[in-house]
Amino acid sequence: MRATLSTVVVVVLFPFLLASQNPASEPVVPASTYLGRYHEVMKLGSAIGQVADVDHLVLNRDAGQLSLEHGRLYLIGPIAGRSVGAVFQGQGRFTFTPALAVEQAELQRFAGSPALNDVFSEAILLFADSTAAQLRALTFRPAVAPGDVADHIHDILNSLEEDKEGSLRSDIIGPLLNGEDTGFFFARLERASGGPVLFEINPDDIEAVQLFRPVPHRQWGSNWAVVAQFPPQQPRPGTGGSHSLRHRLSVPSYRMNIRLTPTSGADLDFAATATLALKAEEPIGPWLLFALHPKLEVDSARWGTGEHALVFKAKDGGDVWVRGVRRLQTGDSLTLTLFYHGDHGSLIDRYGDWFFINPSAAWYPINGQGRNFATFDLTYASPNWYPLASVGERTDSTVTGKVLATRWVTQRPTPFATFNLGLFENYHTQLPGAPPLDVLISEGAHRALAREFLSQGVMIPQQKNMKENVAADVANSLKLFTHLFGECFYPHFYVAEIPYTEGVSFPGMIDLSWVTFQTTTLDGFQEAFRAHEVAHQWWGNGVHPGSYRDAWLSEGLAEFSALWYLQSARKRNDEYFKFLDKYKADIKIDKDETGPIWIGQRTASAKVPLGYQIMIYEKGAWVFQMLRILMLDLRTMQEDRFIQTMRDYYEQYRGKPTSTEDFQRVVEEHVGIPMDWFFDEWVKGTAIPTYHVAWTSQAGDGGKYAVRFRVTQEHVPADFRMPVLVSVDLGGNRIAHFRVDVRGDQKEYTSPLLPGEPKALTFNDLNGVLADVKMERW
Ligand SMILES: [Zn+2]
Repeated sequence: MRATLSTVVVVVLFPFLLASQNPASEPVVPASTYLGRYHEVMKLGSAIGQVADVDHLVLNRDAGQLSLEHGRLYLIGPIAGRSVGAVFQGQGRFTFTPALAVEQAELQRFAGSPALNDVFSEAILLFADSTAAQLRALTFRPAVAPGDVADHIHDILNSLEEDKEGSLRSDIIGPLLNGEDTGFFFARLERASGGPVLFEINPDDIEAVQLFRPVPHRQWGSNWAVVAQFPPQQPRPGTGGSHSLRHRLSVPSYRMNIRLTPTSGADLDFAATATLALKAEEPIGPWLLFALHPKLEVDSARWGTGEHALVFKAKDGGDVWVRGVRRLQTGDSLTLTLFYHGDHGSLIDRYGDWFFINPSAAWYPINGQGRNFATFDLTYASPNWYPLASVGERTDSTVTGKVLATRWVTQRPTPFATFNLGLFENYHTQLPGAPPLDVLISEGAHRALAREFLSQGVMIPQQKNMKENVAADVANSLKLFTHLFGECFYPHFYVAEIPYTEGVSFPGMIDLSWVTFQTTTLDGFQEAFRAHEVAHQWWGNGVHPGSYRDAWLSEGLAEFSALWYLQSARKRNDEYFKFLDKYKADIKIDKDETGPIWIGQRTASAKVPLGYQIMIYEKGAWVFQMLRILMLDLRTMQEDRFIQTMRDYYEQYRGKPTSTEDFQRVVEEHVGIPMDWFFDEWVKGTAIPTYHVAWTSQAGDGGKYAVRFRVTQEHVPADFRMPVLVSVDLGGNRIAHFRVDVRGDQKEYTSPLLPGEPKALTFNDLNGVLADVKMERW
């Protein structure tokens, strides 16, 4: 009765409120300008006019359930006539059970339990899904919200934006810009204990179901970090491939003009025109999202029809929003041209004679609503005294006055493109059985560096044959990997020196740190570093990891290939095992803090800043080492099966994205048994066994012997299993090899009969398992 009465009062006194703030499900009108909508969103805290009493309202959102048991719910909005959020204050309960075991384990690390079942006192909701319709069941009355409600909305929105006007997380602003019912749902929950969490259904991502925890912005560069994420129970369109973003928009090709103009200070200004072909894979827009380096500024944009395109990029923000003339329908194709620039020091840094084009920077507009995979037709106008290298094949090169114009065309779609230039000398070389190689090096910069140090009284050791040394490792590893894995995609290679400490690999082009040219050390590290970047031509550029979960198939495999290069081409068996030992030590220290390989970049944290390096590169390399030894033919000690597996994997997935499941399937084809136990343990798990091993031998018939083992397994789950390679010295240069399939806490095992008496024994020979072995008396 009271509810009806108050409704009547509302109609009489606040007719405009009801008209404008009905939690109805009409689509929101797309924003006409970005900043207009952005300011509406940021002011949502002061847009509260109605409240309803709530008694047991349940919101089921995939793996999460919010039960609003008892309290008040304030509507937030409207934006373009519709409520886009609500704040509940009272007593509620949140349950959340991740669908994947690996994500349950992540939740366990965060909350001490594989599922959440928490009481909360406040829920701030934002939505572009059925929530508005569901709230219509409530009876609203006008209300002035308590001050803390407005403050809390303000706080959460502020925690999701950067400090520059217009910067707001694309998952939040996107649905509000486009007025789409996307299925977006967001809840900030103030839990009674354990601190707040964000629960989100983000339909832009394939792994749409997400739980976040608060983290210090200073350390993380963001206020919220993912605790768990996974695909929804009901798969949505565009989620079939193995990548991270739901594939809603394709950008199949880029045609670009890039102008690099010297400034009076001998720096370079950057300006570019990028024409993107766009194809809608589903209805999308009218606002379309791209990524572009924060320091680049967009001057204007134009559609293929010649019409001006509305574009917004916040200062120092990485998102570019472009408004289409209308919402695109499935199959619509169009072209968009963006004109943009970056003054010197923004995209291109200079250090001495070196220029640095940040290799990981988005120097062209990158698709933010689907997979990156495009052909590039790139024309550069640059000072003719700087040699320039780019991805693609050079199809044209002319000099007009002081301007060098070169055109480069990629032969096949690629997820990455880059270029580099500098005061380079060009060192050309080619090994039989390897593609031609041009090394672009700035020896003058090294000389200047040596002079600078000398002037401070410091003598720095400097490699004498810089270009020859680097070229030798690059050419030799190109040759080895071609031999091992198969023909590389790219007929020609550039190596360009960069003035930072990293290396980055692009199709047919490798940026290598100046350090690797300069150094005189010979411990294998630099050789492995060069070979790692070369291996990316197969793993990363040739076969590319689909989503962040599969990064180890690029980095771990490149790292493993580099160690293989040390062992094989450089014949440094000791270096191969030395690096594996070092990696093992790193992994053991940090495994409990980082989580498994399969959570990709989520392994890095403020606590373990090197988590990604350790898990994806180092443990990733170990996974391949273990497969290598597992596939070893113990009769011949040949590794044909492993090599064939890698060749086959490359052959099947070259030019395509690939997932951990794809790789597992190829391994299974070659070993002939299901391998989920192996990938669960080593890629999706973090346990590292310690084996306590005691053994004795017993004589059998005809001078034969058997070895009896008692193996106790520590630090792993009860069902952990792993075949361990054992080598037995029978004297007289006779070595016997067999595997012990270790399972369970403590078990005894008996070897096959051996043709002699064991003199000594190596358990876990060839470091076949990432494990510790403690030998004990029988
Ligand atoms: Zn790498």
